[in-house]
Amino acid sequence: MLKNLPSTPESLIEWAWPEIESYYQELESRPIHIENIAAWLADWSSVGERIEELYARLAVATSMDTADKEADERMNKFLDGTFRNVMAAEQKLKEKLLASRFEPQGFEIPLRNMRAEADLFCASNLPLLAEQQKLAIRYDKIYGAQTVQWEGQEVTLTRLAMNFQQPDRERRKKAWKIKAARQLADMEAINELWVKFMDIRARIAKNAGKPSYREYAWQQKLRFDYTPADCQSFAEAIEQVVVPAATRIYEKRKKALGLDSLRPWDLVDGWFNRPAPAAGAPALKPFVSIDELKQGISAIFQKVDPVLGGYFDTLLKDGLTDLANRKNKAPGAYCTSFTSIRKPFVFVNAVGIHEDVMTTLHESGHAFHIFETAGIPYIQQLAVPMEFAEVASMGMELLASPYLARQNGGFYSESEAAYARIEHIESEMLFWPFMAVVDLFQEWVYENPAAGAEPAACDAKWGELWDRFLPGVDWSGLEEIKVTGWHRKLHIHTVPFYYVEYGLAQLGAVQIFGNALKDQAGAVAAYRKALSLGGTVTLPRLFETAGAKFAFDSAILKTAVNLMEKVIGELEEKV
Ligand SMILES: [Zn+2]
Repeated sequence: MLKNLPSTPESLIEWAWPEIESYYQELESRPIHIENIAAWLADWSSVGERIEELYARLAVATSMDTADKEADERMNKFLDGTFRNVMAAEQKLKEKLLASRFEPQGFEIPLRNMRAEADLFCASNLPLLAEQQKLAIRYDKIYGAQTVQWEGQEVTLTRLAMNFQQPDRERRKKAWKIKAARQLADMEAINELWVKFMDIRARIAKNAGKPSYREYAWQQKLRFDYTPADCQSFAEAIEQVVVPAATRIYEKRKKALGLDSLRPWDLVDGWFNRPAPAAGAPALKPFVSIDELKQGISAIFQKVDPVLGGYFDTLLKDGLTDLANRKNKAPGAYCTSFTSIRKPFVFVNAVGIHEDVMTTLHESGHAFHIFETAGIPYIQQLAVPMEFAEVASMGMELLASPYLARQNGGFYSESEAAYARIEHIESEMLFWPFMAVVDLFQEWVYENPAAGAEPAACDAKWGELWDRFLPGVDWSGLEEIKVTGWHRKLHIHTVPFYYVEYGLAQLGAVQIFGNALKDQAGAVAAYRKALSLGGTVTLPRLFETAGAKFAFDSAILKTAVNLMEKVIGELEEKV
């Protein structure tokens, strides 16, 4: 057992490299053999958990108060000093474990991941990876700097896009056109960056000895349980099964809005998501005070499952949430882990809208994952693949949705709750075809690197995929902005290939929801069981334990889509 490890948040925050280094040195020099391997792993984990928690606590502090200079300095000091040293020290311990050839029980998956990462590691790629990171920052800067004049004021495009929710169609169209023109003005800059991204990625793959960047990305993302061909099948299944259902949603909304054709400015995101509500739709105002939000969410979780409700109440009781929006708070929402105490922390920027309710449910799903894995001994066993981590959160959105009405402890009248649930399910349905476009586009780019590095060829491919997967919206006369859609999907540029995960997780979440409609207690028990496995089993096993199939075929997707359409139909009776 290592002595004198920090045991309180206060002492943890003060933990600095010289002290941490001595623990890593001890672990590195300690001979390992069959009798002491468990103790060695436990000690390594104790250090790793504290580092992870230290980082999480520093990040929480900076996001809770962006004006806190001391928190900022602590974070910078950590990133510039401790963090880099820790990465190198962790690498040495991983190599030590791999070289020992020990296969401790429950370590099969962590070892598999370590081997893949060690295989991919290549010193000559370090400067290229840093260069790629700089290109990503330039990409973010280009979009971050885009502002326009709107009604006499300089506004960001995000602010401008809020007009897509307005009932006045002319106003929507005007805002959309201004936004599109501003984005097109940066077309050349994005194209130039893209050529550089493609060049760097080809070199990264070559250095690592991979035939293409796609193979590199696959291994880097630890995708052991599916292939590019599976993603292809998934996209084809989406085309067959989801596209017709999505088109039905667009059609229905078009009629409700009294329009001849649905144009991009009729959609809430100006792109692919559902249209803005028709006149007379309920304005959802779920809560005023944060206490009301907490009470409502707690009551909903108690209905889903008393243990999960208890977890949420522990978050509140132990001060492990920061839910209210206020000045000097970072935007967005997240759930992070205080790993040494095995407790989560949930961060939301709630202002009183429906989205805040859904975000809190989502992040709580991630938090439940951390509670459920509290019994897993080693930190290396806690890394859950993204494809399943999002099942915990997206699944919780759906599992909680039947209790959104006030009579179940939630926030709404029966009809408001039904309305909110329809919007939620429709948005999920409309996401799949878009996801397929993003995924197929990237498959094509890296499979055909010469054409993929030519912006004009990329435009043509994106346009072709867009017409195939999103026929429900009329883009005629808007070709230039349509075909450059790939410019505006940041994942394609800054986190390549990372996207299909959401589509796969959503399919898992819908299957769990379907199980709950038949057997609520059984479905939640399976969900909790799967969460409790952390990262100790394969992706198909995680899905299977949760009562779902990790699948890419149209049969599973068809079952999911039928269920979603059936639920929408039932809810429409209640609106
Ligand atoms: Zn999430």
